[in-house]
Amino acid sequence: MNEKGLIFDIQSFSVHDGPGCRTNIFFTGCPLKCKWCANPESWIKKKHLMLSENLCKYDKGCRACKNICPYGSIKFYENKKPSITRDICKRCETFECVSICPNNSLKQCVKEYSVDEIIKILRRDFNNWGPEGGVTFSGGEPLMHHEFLIEVLKKCHKWQIHNAIETSAYAKSEIFLEVFKYIQFAFIDVKNMDNEKHKDGTGVYNDLILSNIELLKKSGWQGRLVLRQPTIGGYNDSDENAYKLIEFMKKNSLYEINLLKFHRLGETKWNQLGKVYEYHDHGDITYEKMQHLQKLYLDNNIACYIGDNTPF
Ligand code: SF4
Ligand code: SF4
Repeated sequence: MNEKGLIFDIQSFSVHDGPGCRTNIFFTGCPLKCKWCANPESWIKKKHLMLSENLCKYDKGCRACKNICPYGSIKFYENKKPSITRDICKRCETFECVSICPNNSLKQCVKEYSVDEIIKILRRDFNNWGPEGGVTFSGGEPLMHHEFLIEVLKKCHKWQIHNAIETSAYAKSEIFLEVFKYIQFAFIDVKNMDNEKHKDGTGVYNDLILSNIELLKKSGWQGRLVLRQPTIGGYNDSDENAYKLIEFMKKNSLYEINLLKFHRLGETKWNQLGKVYEYHDHGDITYEKMQHLQKLYLDNNIACYIGDNTPF
């Protein structure tokens, strides 16, 4: 196939995203826009530009990128950091500014890979994984690249590479089920059981996500599914939300959930992309509260893992 995958990062030696040691492939493009997202550079299914302000030497007089942009996107006002017109950069194909920056402050997010290039990387890493490892497709949302992903997955099966996916399950049901024919292990996020709160936090309603999970369970899929919830103080940490999710899980014979404690690791990236991070001063949750929620699941015979403790 000619289509290429748009990928913003590839990380070898991950040990928390599926069985054994793994190579993680992060696709770009996401239909959700979570207010606490740790990877906001993955939202747009396009190449784009990031500015690391802590590396930029504008305050020392650097202006190397001032006149390089053919579209006039970068401007300097007084002794302030470079002002970038992001709408112009979204259409850029050349990224001249990145190669001229002497301090690696400008970075082109997202590169194109062919199916064979991905397989070559996985074959390179294969001997480092150990017997249980493999590849985990993450993002962004891997399902936004379903045709490309299916081609990669077919080749993974051919080369006996174990696969896993981290997904929002927010995709047309026929696409979702088609991709899952090839998936062996999955984390699926359920961010909030309240439809309006889900829309408020992520930009989309949860109906499609929940119905895709139900369809998957009815389809006879043989893989292992662990639900996941980034757990955020004041957003989805209520007992009521947990009980609704417990009810949904029991109804669909789902018995594993992984609760991730809210963190602000993505905040710097929001700034680098020129976006406002709403969770700067709220969303915190105590470990005691996480344990309280864990007990609600355990009391209902659902295995509940906190943080990196999912057994593989
Ligand atoms: S060239 Fe790089 S370091 Fe210099 S002002 Fe531009 S972004 Fe900053
Ligand atoms: S990414 Fe392209 S449009 Fe944006 S500043 Fe750099 S060269 Fe100009």
